[in-house]
Parts: sequence; structure tokens; C-alpha cells
Amino acid sequence: MSEQNQPLSFRDNVDLMVDQAINIMDLDGGLGNVLKSCNSVLQVSFPVDIDGTPEVFTGWRAVHSDHRLPSKGGIRFDLAVDQEEVEALAALMTYKCALVDVPYGGSKGGLRIDPSRYSRHQLEAITRRFARELAGKGFLSPAKNVPAPDMGTGAREMGWMADTYRQLFPDDINYIGAVTGKPVGFGGVRGRNEATGRGVQYVLREFFRHHDLVKNTGLSDGLAGKRVIIQGMGNVGRHAAHFLAQEDHVRIIGVIEHDGALINAHGISVAAVLNHMREHGGVEGFPDAEFMADGARALEQACDILIPAAREGIIHSDNAARIQAPVIAEAANGPITYDADRILRDNGVEIIPDLFCNAGGVIVSYFEWIRNLAHVRFGRIEKRFHESRGAHIVSAIEMASNVEVPEWIRDEIVRGADEFDLVRSGLDDTMRLAFQEMDEERRSNPDVKDLRMAAYVTAIHKISRAYLDIGY
Ligand code: GLU
Repeated sequence: MSEQNQPLSFRDNVDLMVDQAINIMDLDGGLGNVLKSCNSVLQVSFPVDIDGTPEVFTGWRAVHSDHRLPSKGGIRFDLAVDQEEVEALAALMTYKCALVDVPYGGSKGGLRIDPSRYSRHQLEAITRRFARELAGKGFLSPAKNVPAPDMGTGAREMGWMADTYRQLFPDDINYIGAVTGKPVGFGGVRGRNEATGRGVQYVLREFFRHHDLVKNTGLSDGLAGKRVIIQGMGNVGRHAAHFLAQEDHVRIIGVIEHDGALINAHGISVAAVLNHMREHGGVEGFPDAEFMADGARALEQACDILIPAAREGIIHSDNAARIQAPVIAEAANGPITYDADRILRDNGVEIIPDLFCNAGGVIVSYFEWIRNLAHVRFGRIEKRFHESRGAHIVSAIEMASNVEVPEWIRDEIVRGADEFDLVRSGLDDTMRLAFQEMDEERRSNPDVKDLRMAAYVTAIHKISRAYLDIGY
């Protein structure tokens, strides 16, 4: 059914995109339905004392797949959370993890709450209680189900959840791996906080290195000077905007937030906008750009790259035809509906799909989980060894050539990689490999017409192989 008859749910939208991929694949009969079904969903309602009165909160955790364990995915705190949304997001996690070779099943959780209405102390009580509910019912553990941050949650909430699990299961030596995205001082990995935004940067770099894709868009290769509009300055959007502006020299010409949008063709300073938002709670009143009260209209402004980095369904059949960007990078999960996707593709827009574009978060979560199970920080064992070997290499070059190695080259050779370096390198490599696999699928399969289809076909091949190997 399409949007003309009855609005499709987020879950329907994801399923339709998956169906499109399954239809062109030669899957064993029935396997498509196995892939699409959500294994289990937990719904909990629990009271927490808020200023002397009990308030009841409702939350969900969906496990879409467990062909690999643990099942993985974030937990969001948001008023729009419901079972359908959590199931759709859990399904996306299954395909995302498979695409980028992160050995997890797909899961997602959410609590229906407006976190801005509660004090830190109240949020801690609510989060810990939610974690107790999940852990008690087998939906939180380092072996079976590992949450991470998502919309409305961050390192602080993940720390509370991990600590709650530790209190419940102190004999589990791997307790710290029950949650990822934790504070670095409490088992988190360096680089996780920025990982999804950093991943968006790496994805765009990779896209603009592929001339045959870029030429369809009418743009030149390379990112420098590209005009970017970004929707959502949350953890993903702000990091992506910052890295792209600072390191790749794109021009951020539009910023869309909950209270409206800023437009300035000459470029907007990300740091200045973030400062303004900290002081005023929104973008209105920012002095160095034109303000548009109707933020959604700013999605339709001319630009080279549009980065939706907020919530699902913001590009739909009513506004899709007016989108002018030739490239859309889906930093959010599900920002484009199924019907809008068709309209955009017909208009020649290149879409870098969510299951690839925002996979940086779960990739670095995987690194954090490995670090937690290994009980050692990356680089701790080998850093000094590599430094002293580097120093010997420099000495050998100088002795053999009788020329002193310039200091900046010496520093680079002698420096042993720290945790940040290793996490970034692992993220970059994982993203590039996934891109190459998708691109290979796109080039070699005439039925695969776009990157989203390539991403789903690549992911589904891997998952179906796993199902066929272990049975279902
Ligand atoms: N919430 C993020 C996502 O949607 C991260 C999930 C994770 O790290 O497990 O991909």
C-alpha cells in the first residue's frame, strides 16, 4: 500500500525497501520472510517516583535478529517512540551490521519520554529502572543484547545502564561490555562519541572519490567547496558538520534545527551555531545567517549535499520532488520514506543509504565491546614497542644515508598508535571496505540501480549465508 491510500509506518517503509532487494535476489523460498520477521519485542511499563508522585514510563526493546550474538542497537529517549518504530530501527540494525561486517544481530530500544522535562537525578532513576527491567528479562547483557546511545541518550545514560547491570550481575567478568557508548573513564573507547559523525565524513570522502558515481550528480570530484545543508545538530550532525567543514573544507550553507533553519550562502560557522544553541536553546536569533521559521522548507534549498541527521520520514512524497540536492547522505535512520525514495531516484538524486552512511556508531561500538571483553585499552601493549622500532628505523636510515631525517617525518615514524588512531583507522577501513563491496554489487548486477539497493543486496547475501549455515 502506498502513501496515497494510507500512510505507511516506518516499519512498512523498511520492509518495502528490503522487499525490493529480495525480489531481485535468488533466495531460497521463504528465507525472505525469515529475514524480515522481528524475533522478539519486549514492552515494559514501570513507575518512578517524580517529585513525590509515581509516574509510569513505557519502553520497548526489539530483537530483530540473533543469527549473530549479541544483538546490537541503540536506545532512544523520545516522545515519538513506539513498538513499530523500535522494530523498524532494529531491522535496520540487522542489515547495517551485516553490511559493515560487524558480527552482531540487530536490536533497538526506546523509552517514551521527553528527557528535557526531567532533572539529572530523575533521569538517572528512570534509566536505571529501565535497565533493570531489560536485564531482568534477558534484553541486556554482554553476551546477548548490548545497547548503545541513540536519539536523546548519550554516554551518561550508557554509564548508568552499565553500572546497573554490574550491580545486578557482579560475577559477570564481562559486565562492562553489556553496553557501549559509555564514558571513556568507565569502559568507553576513545572516538565512540564522534564515531557516527566521523563515519559520515569518511563515507562522503569515499563517495566523492568514485568518479562514475559523482559524474551522475553533475558535481566535481572531491569534497572541498561543496555546499552542504545539514538537518539536526545533535551528536551525529554536529560532528559530521564540524569534521567536514574543518578537514574537508565544505561550506555549511544551511543548518536546520527544531526551531527553524539558518541559511547563508557564504557559509556558517559550526562552532558559532553550537555556541548560540547552547545559550539560546535553538538557532533563532543567530546573527550571521538568514533565519527561516519553517525549517522543513530549508531541506528544499539548492545545495550540493543534503545531510538529514535527525529523525525518520522527513523527506516524504509531499516534499521529495522539491529537493534540489543532487546527493543526500542519510546520517539519520530512515529519513527518506519508500515513496520519496522512488521520486528522488527518478529525479537522479544519489542517496547514500542510512544502513551504510550512519554505521560508524555501531562499528566503533564493536571496537568498544572488543576492548571490554579483552579488558585492555587498544595500543596499551604494543605502543612503546612500535615507538622504539620506529626510532631504530630512523637511525638506520640516517646511518645508511648520512642525512638527518626531518623532524616531522621522524615524529610520524617514531610515534606509536594510540587508541584514537587505531579506532579511526579501523573505522575508515571498515567503511571503505563496505563501500567497495556495495560498489562491486552495483557494477556487476544490472538489477541493482542505486546504492540503497546495493547496500541491502550485499547485507542480505551475508545474512542469508549465515542462516543457511546455521539453519533457522
Ligand atoms: N544508535 C546507533 C545506530 O543507530 C548506534 C548503535 C550501536 O552502537 O549499537 O546505529
